[in-house]
Parts: sequence; C-alpha cells; structure tokens
Amino acid sequence: MKEITGVVVRGINNIYTVVPENQMMQLSTASSYFCRIKGKVLNGVRDSYNPLAVGDRVIASIHANQEGMIISKLPRHTSFDRWNAKRSMNQTLVANMDLVIIMSSVDAPPFRPRFIDRALVCAQHTPVLIVLNKCDLDFSEAEYERFCLYETLEYDIFAMSAFDDSGIKALRSRLMGKMVAVIGQSGVGKSTLVNNLVGGDIQQKTQEISQKYQRGRHTTNHALLLDAQGFTIVDTPGMRELLIPHLDVYEVADYFPEFRKYRGKCNFQPCLHLHEPDCAVKQAVESGAVHEDRYESYLRMIASIEMRPESWESERT
Ligand code: GDP
Ligand code: ZN
Repeated sequence: MKEITGVVVRGINNIYTVVPENQMMQLSTASSYFCRIKGKVLNGVRDSYNPLAVGDRVIASIHANQEGMIISKLPRHTSFDRWNAKRSMNQTLVANMDLVIIMSSVDAPPFRPRFIDRALVCAQHTPVLIVLNKCDLDFSEAEYERFCLYETLEYDIFAMSAFDDSGIKALRSRLMGKMVAVIGQSGVGKSTLVNNLVGGDIQQKTQEISQKYQRGRHTTNHALLLDAQGFTIVDTPGMRELLIPHLDVYEVADYFPEFRKYRGKCNFQPCLHLHEPDCAVKQAVESGAVHEDRYESYLRMIASIEMRPESWESERT
C-alpha cells in the first residue's frame, strides 16, 4: 500500500478516478486509480452536493488492482460553483482550474449575456476567458457591443468559430500549461471545441476509458479531464441552466467590477443598490456609467438569492 497526492480527473457514481499529481502533464499515458471516499464525510465537507469535483487534489492510499481510497481533500485554490435547485445546495462543477472558458455563441442558441454574467459569479476568483463562438454566423451590432463590454470591464475576451482552425490555434496558445474548464449552455459548441483541441472524439474517448476499466456505464453528462497536448481540459456537458451559488447577498456586488469605484459612496452602508436613497451605483446606472443590462443582471441575482428556501439558511447554522 502506498499513498499518493493526486488529482481527480473524473467522478462518477461515487468512484473517483485519481491521477498522481506529477503525471498530470502526460495525462493520456498516466497511471490512474479508482478510488472511493473513506467514510462519509471528507474533511468535514458539508453544504455541498458533491464532496469532490474534477480538479480536486486529494491524498489517496492505493491498494491492488489500481484501486484506492481517498483519505483527504487538499484545500482548493479556486472552484466553479453553482446552485443546484433540485437539492437546494451549492454544487462544485470543477475545482482548482487555472482558467475557466465561459463560452457563448452568436446564434443557435442566441447570445445570452445573462448567462455569462452568472457564470462570472460562479467562477468566483478563477481567471476566466469569455469566448464568443459561431462568429461565422450573423451578429447584431448591439450584441457585439454587449460582448465587448466585458473587455472594458477587464475580462479577457475571444471571438472565434470552432470551424476555423486559425482561431482554434490562437486559442490553444493561450491555454498551454493550464488546467482548463469549458462552461456554457448546451449547443454553444463546447464539445466541438474540446474535440478539436483534444484531437479526437471525446465521446469515444470517454467510452474507451469506461470500457478499459469496465466502470461507469452511464458515461454521458459528466465531467472528465482530458489531455490536450500541453494542457488539460474538461468539458462540462448537459448544462441547461446555471444559477449563481448561494452567497451573502452583499457579496454579489464584488463580482461587478464596474461597481467597485462606487463602493463606500452610497448614502446607506451597507448598500444593496436596490431601493436605497442616494445610491451611487443607481446614479451611475442612470448616468450611463454602469451598463443598464449589467445592473439588470445584478438585480436578478439578488432576487434569485432572496427567493431561496429558508431551510438552506437554517441547515447551515
Ligand atoms: P455543446 O452542447 O456546447 O457541446 O455544443 P456542440 O459542440 O455539440 O455544438 C452544437 C452544434 O453547434 C453542433 O451542430 C456544432 O456543429 C455546431 N457548432 C459548433 N461550433 C460552431 C461554430 O463555430 N459555428 C457554427 N455555425 N456552428 C457550430
Ligand atoms: Zn448603493
């Protein structure tokens, strides 16, 4: 029996595939171990739908037949969290990513800045790259401006078409050496992009891996970290909606960089920038200094948090 520090590259039916940390850059040829969690609670993890997510670093003890037991989870640097409405809990989709690509499309499905705004909150402090795919299709000027707004807010943006190799090549160079996740609504082109970057059919790869170890017959709709020669990437399939994680309502404003310079300037302290008189943020919206549509996103987020069941609050304390 030996102990390793490893990274969770896949989790399904409470069996986690763990790859030794020092082999992560050669993921396709790395050893992998099938691990269960020792005991029910891992390091006191509570209030979360899933104790471990793809990207988590763990200590595992390895037994025979490439199997092992996860003993502990190491602290996360970053995590991409969402609210799981069905279970009324936060859910971590991926952890410790160096970069999260928030992908949207020009059309089919239509451009949805509201989704991007929510994803920016879910990403918390993970660096992000906001990608606009399907640029081979027609885009209105107003929508293009809304997309470019993110750049003025100092987010990195990238416009591309998954069908155009030069764009993919330029994107690839930005991902080297990183552990990357792709987040986006169904249909925006995540799988097409990831297939292209990984050089093959992910669905097929996923199935090959499953067959090899005869595990996880339900191979659809789960995250899997893949080798993309020089970086690793995970597609997060099957995302119909994305709700911001449960957090203190007053923290939501921290994810709106354009509100920052008004911090402390509202008449009411603390201010939620809703109906308070002499609110500096609201005045900035009226003068056009803060984009109206971003403020609308903010209002919806506050409302969505306030609508959550109180049972969640009482269970936490
Ligand atoms: P996912 O659900 O985000 O993984 O999206 P898919 O990768 O399955 O793509 C959904 C559809 O969009 C497929 O029919 C793709 O061929 C198509 N698609 C992907 N990228 C592009 C693109 O850049 N331009 C156009 N026109 N279609 C694309
Ligand atoms: Zn205010």
